[in-house]
Amino acid sequence: MTAPPGPEGVWDLVILGGGPAGLSCAIYAGRGRYSTLLLERMMPGGQVVLNDIIENYPGFPEGLPGFELADRMARQATRFGARIETGEVTGLAVSGRPFRVMLAGGQARLARALLIATGSRPRRLGVPGEQEFLTRGVSYCATCDGPLFADKLLMVVGGGDTAIEETLFLANLASKVTVVHRRDQLRAQRILQERALANPKIEFLWSHVLAEIMGGDEGVQAARVKHVATGAEREVPVAGIFIAVGHTPHTDFLPPEVRRDDAGCVVTDANLMTSVPGIFAAGDVRAGAYRQIAFSIGDGALAYRGIFLYLEEQ
Ligand code: NAP
Repeated sequence: MTAPPGPEGVWDLVILGGGPAGLSCAIYAGRGRYSTLLLERMMPGGQVVLNDIIENYPGFPEGLPGFELADRMARQATRFGARIETGEVTGLAVSGRPFRVMLAGGQARLARALLIATGSRPRRLGVPGEQEFLTRGVSYCATCDGPLFADKLLMVVGGGDTAIEETLFLANLASKVTVVHRRDQLRAQRILQERALANPKIEFLWSHVLAEIMGGDEGVQAARVKHVATGAEREVPVAGIFIAVGHTPHTDFLPPEVRRDDAGCVVTDANLMTSVPGIFAAGDVRAGAYRQIAFSIGDGALAYRGIFLYLEEQ
């Protein structure tokens, strides 16, 4: 293995973000004997650690807590020599080589290749109770948390593809799903609309917004919704509220040379290389990503293949 460089040395690969995509690539790169540094703002795992229990990741038939899956991946990466450091990336200098990664506090790290795996965050509504009941009835991922609410009354907020796909998924489990949408028309694809409108377990509250999430020690018990035109309010009893009002990629720190789409997601080629040779992107931050752990893991492995080819060519 290439020896890990000192503070001013050049790493073969610096990975930005310690979610499943970043950790997966770190495992491959460490095992491939490249000096690999993974920078994570908080703790490894990304959005995975928000999940109480992950039941759809292959190999764990009883499921496992999100933080445990993240911890296992991090230990696997360090076992193969990758170093994980806590640090907030504030900017990148990409015009020269090696690349320079600027960190909060004024330090920098140097890299021959970079992987952007900083993920995205579900957009928050900012209503009272949203933060308080996170993981106790408020969720941003139906696939992850829906099965915990079998036969319960549920609510979905949003009218896009994600909201309606999640509604259809939840309707298979829940006793009833109420969709709260701020307009009287859905944004979602027609085929999803048709399915949702024809499903007797799905009810629509048109032209309404979520005003407050209420509950107690047991979690969410009700939602207060408001009509956007009349201002009339009513209370709806629910055990779970799924908020699907879009995602925001973590790309604010990127320079303009790294091309992004209209939504701010990083555009890549088939090897997951960005518009800057030597810089790759994987996971939720990438344009066209499908927000599932298994896909992000695959992305990390695919990016490694591109990184390997790039480093060997240098
Ligand atoms: P989206 O298309 O941006 O939809 C967000 C929804 O949330 C919209 O209905 C929007 O209402 C609503 N919304 C936004 N801010 C809100 C607020 N503050 N209060 C209340 N409602 C709010 O996001 P998405 O559904 O996550 O989809 C993202 C992209 O992925 C889209 O391009 C989508 O087509 C794609 N996608 C595709 C598939 C698929 O092909 N199967 C599946 C999932 C996602 P308005 O309609 O009034 O703006």
